[in-house]
Amino acid sequence: MVLKGKSVFGGIAIGTLRIYEKKDHIIKRRRVTDVLEEETRFLAAKEEAKRQLAELYEKALKEVGETGAAIFEIHQMMLDDPDYLEAVCSMIKTQEVNAEFAAASTGDNFSQMFAAMEDAYMRERAADVKDISNRVISILQGGGAGAMEAEEPFILLADDLAPSETVQMDKSKVLSFVTRGGSTNSHTAILARTMNIPALIGVDIPEELGQEVVVGIVDGYQGILYIHPDEETLARYQRLKEAEEQKRRLLKELKGKETVTLDGRKINLYANIGGVSDVAEALANDAGGIGLFRSEFLYLESEDYPTEETQFAAYKTVAEAMAGKKVIIRTLDIGADKQVDYFHLEKEENPAMGYRAIRICLDRKELFKTQLRAIYRASYYGSISVMFPMIISVEEIRQIKEVIEEVKAELLRDGIPYQEVEIGIMIETPAAVMISDLLAEEVDFFSIGTNDLTQYTLAIDRQNANLDRFYDAHHEAVLRMLQMVVDNGHKGGCWVGICGELGADTALTETFLRMGFDEISVSPSMVLKVREKIRSINCNSSAISSPVGESCLHE
Ligand code: PEP
Ligand code: MG
Repeated sequence: MVLKGKSVFGGIAIGTLRIYEKKDHIIKRRRVTDVLEEETRFLAAKEEAKRQLAELYEKALKEVGETGAAIFEIHQMMLDDPDYLEAVCSMIKTQEVNAEFAAASTGDNFSQMFAAMEDAYMRERAADVKDISNRVISILQGGGAGAMEAEEPFILLADDLAPSETVQMDKSKVLSFVTRGGSTNSHTAILARTMNIPALIGVDIPEELGQEVVVGIVDGYQGILYIHPDEETLARYQRLKEAEEQKRRLLKELKGKETVTLDGRKINLYANIGGVSDVAEALANDAGGIGLFRSEFLYLESEDYPTEETQFAAYKTVAEAMAGKKVIIRTLDIGADKQVDYFHLEKEENPAMGYRAIRICLDRKELFKTQLRAIYRASYYGSISVMFPMIISVEEIRQIKEVIEEVKAELLRDGIPYQEVEIGIMIETPAAVMISDLLAEEVDFFSIGTNDLTQYTLAIDRQNANLDRFYDAHHEAVLRMLQMVVDNGHKGGCWVGICGELGADTALTETFLRMGFDEISVSPSMVLKVREKIRSINCNSSAISSPVGESCLHE
């Protein structure tokens, strides 16, 4: 059975499902003769409830921190609310009823009042009033609140959960919360976020589930609860969960650690991003910088040419967010698989080998200058480098430098601050590889785009899925080219990196290090995996023979 709900926290949980049965209080209306004594009984129960809540506050503080615990302070305050107290006491006195009944009726009335309010926050307080009333009633009846005991971890299913119910649970056993009711800001949701476990609300949990042992899966990314999943689904989610656990482990073990080999060689391990919104992922995965900012996404996401201001704002935000760490912005790389309508590019027979990237920029100087002005202006706010895609000649670099000089002169004239920017090129055509010795004289760094370099070297269209069987990411020709670029780059005084997908292939990490790469830039989610690999490598040992022969033993 597959049930859809709303996810309030992501993640995957696999385990047995357990339904939380609320302890129902059966309240009988009783007539009392000594109303004063009944009132005293109520006030004593209220004090005991406050004492219990203070205990719960301390427990929650230890387990889920201040934010999660705060609700128990609020509950203590609510118990002292003059309106609430007066309502209960007056009911006892005027109607001569027992304290349990007065507390339950007042709890219901207040709860209905809150539930009818417009303000979403106030509406959610309805459950709190119920919760505190139930606590007082429970004390008056001489019972404790029901806790949920279990040997094995489980996925908890419930109508809704009050904070006092969740805090009394053995949370080490709860894999996930799934509730019929609740809201994004309900306490269950807050608790799930604090505990870092997936949670769903608004799930139509079938009544007949009862207490039998049933396996379930919670997909907190897609808001799905699987009950009795088939073997294939179970296996798929087990794989996803393992990958997630690996990621968590890597984060715990490797966040903040250096990217350094066993023999002490440091590597710059950076992340590839497509825009401002990816920076958080890069930082969360502890990237040492941004090795490739695919700036064309600013153009692809927009209906018209992004203005200098729009681009400046994006580049500045990334530079500032990376706080002095290197940010390599690649200038516009459209054409081929990345088409933008408002560029009105002619349809081509063979767009991958067509009018794209730097070819367009050098033809449409104003467009190019707008981007470069934005990049240079942003350079003032961090550590920005610029690199150019699809280079095939020295002449192109000379032209680029002319435009850069014009831009710098204009900024100087206009009194706009900028810093000197490191200039690099993507090496992603066989032509660039073959003349990398000449290109190295012109720039500060190389970054190898193996996606395109492999496509052009092996003559395999990267967009054509039918050619996958011919595609060999480890092809000797490509590996030899990488070595050639590193050697030529270093001879010409350039640092050399790799920013194509191959950079994240940990089967080649050691080869890259032995080749002499200075930098590797990968998708944010791959940063820590590659770091783990690099930290396990000893480049001094001769244990691995490089796939490209002697010349690979660079160091
Ligand atoms: C590459 O070609 O390897 C590269 C990094 O650029 P893109 O994938 O954006 O073409
Ligand atoms: Mg490319």
